[in-house]
Amino acid sequence: MTSTSPAVDQQRKLVTSVPGPRSQALHARKSAAVSAGVGVALPAYVERAGGGILVDVDGNHLIDFGSGIAVTTVGNAAAAVVNGVQEQAADFTHTCFMITPYEEYVAVCEALAEVTPGGHEKRSALFNSGAEAVENAVKVARAYTGRQAVVAFDHGYHGRTNLTMALTAKSMPYKHSFGPFANEVYRAPMAYPLRWPGGPERCADEAFAAFVDTVHTQVGESNAAAVVIEPIQGEGGFVVPPAGWLRRVADFCSEHGILLIADEIQTGFCRTGDWFACEHEDVVPDLVTTAKGIAGGLPLSALTGRAEVMDAVHVGGLGGTYGGNPVACAAALGAIETMRSEDLCGRAKQVEALFTERLELLRSKYDVIAEVRGRGAMLAMELTAGAGDLRPNPTVTAAVNAHCHAQGLVTLTAGTYGNVLRFLPPLSSPDHLLREGLDILEEAFASVTP
Ligand SMILES: *Cc1c(COP(=O)(O)O)cnc(C)c1O
Repeated sequence: MTSTSPAVDQQRKLVTSVPGPRSQALHARKSAAVSAGVGVALPAYVERAGGGILVDVDGNHLIDFGSGIAVTTVGNAAAAVVNGVQEQAADFTHTCFMITPYEEYVAVCEALAEVTPGGHEKRSALFNSGAEAVENAVKVARAYTGRQAVVAFDHGYHGRTNLTMALTAKSMPYKHSFGPFANEVYRAPMAYPLRWPGGPERCADEAFAAFVDTVHTQVGESNAAAVVIEPIQGEGGFVVPPAGWLRRVADFCSEHGILLIADEIQTGFCRTGDWFACEHEDVVPDLVTTAKGIAGGLPLSALTGRAEVMDAVHVGGLGGTYGGNPVACAAALGAIETMRSEDLCGRAKQVEALFTERLELLRSKYDVIAEVRGRGAMLAMELTAGAGDLRPNPTVTAAVNAHCHAQGLVTLTAGTYGNVLRFLPPLSSPDHLLREGLDILEEAFASVTP
């Protein structure tokens, strides 16, 4: 820890109901000042955080199973991130890299070339948000290929800007009432084993055939600039495609001159036990988008890809006022250094082992839990009507989630049908907090299921 931030006591502690009176007062101010369109999952207002704990304004210590949606992988206010930010902020806060550049931006791009999949020559460009990185991936793919069409998948999530809304599958809440959306976006079925009509065994073959059919009949191979895919879907419910499927999609793309864009914004930076989830499938994408875990909570995103693809864009075609802000870059360098020195990929595998054992035990006890899935410290349970009945169960999902929140465990939901509980603990969380969080989850199932 740094000298400026007192260590956060790594114990769950509830001193009021959650949310407590101070949080409730702040939430009343929120309602009067912040757009109703900005929703809040758990209105406990945070004052301090670190390790595996969020401390709210009422003094409650909450166990964090969300990492602010897979962002604080290295922990909140991680020492190397705080030091980098403090030093950089004291030196200078902004020049605009496109006007007068600075080393930190270049150093982040060098680090991205090292850690992203593939040993080929790479180039990167930095932006502010994940959606912006995806938008730029599509721009680059179109410029390089001279083609327009982009293929995305059912249950996919790529952001909230106009083009990324078009790429995102789910209407409510992401797209509802916000159209019209960008054109030349096509959608293929996702290889979703639990919900594949022909059953999980036939999912890989049939989903690949359906993908090929979509590209061939609806797009035309020679019109397709890129296929955009999350190697493990995030907001869609941590859908893990069957082994080998992504490889076949990648091979099809390279056969037809279609660029493969891996959206690793949620899966990247050690979250799944590898630096990037594509590695597990031995897939080297042409372009990779990253954000979330990249900078320990500072707003930064990146597009990294083959040098010849990234350099195909005319000078001035990529950029933005704040993209690759020096303070965010310093944070990223600190976060990446922490991932390396603390072997956070190894830590994610330990978290997977600890969680999987407990979640599978729950699944054997509660037949509303249809499946436990995910990889590394990106794990989920899909809840259904029970006993072979796959109708989604958002009601029990919401009740379990609410029980956890009231007990001081910050859990998140996901899934097209709102029936997935997802777990994304910070990799700085000690085991005893992970175990206690899983105890609370177990109590939640006991109390909300008949
Ligand atoms: C969160 C997310 C995005 C969007 O990132 P923002 O920073 O919220 O714009 C895009 N793709 C995936 C896979 C994500 O999880």
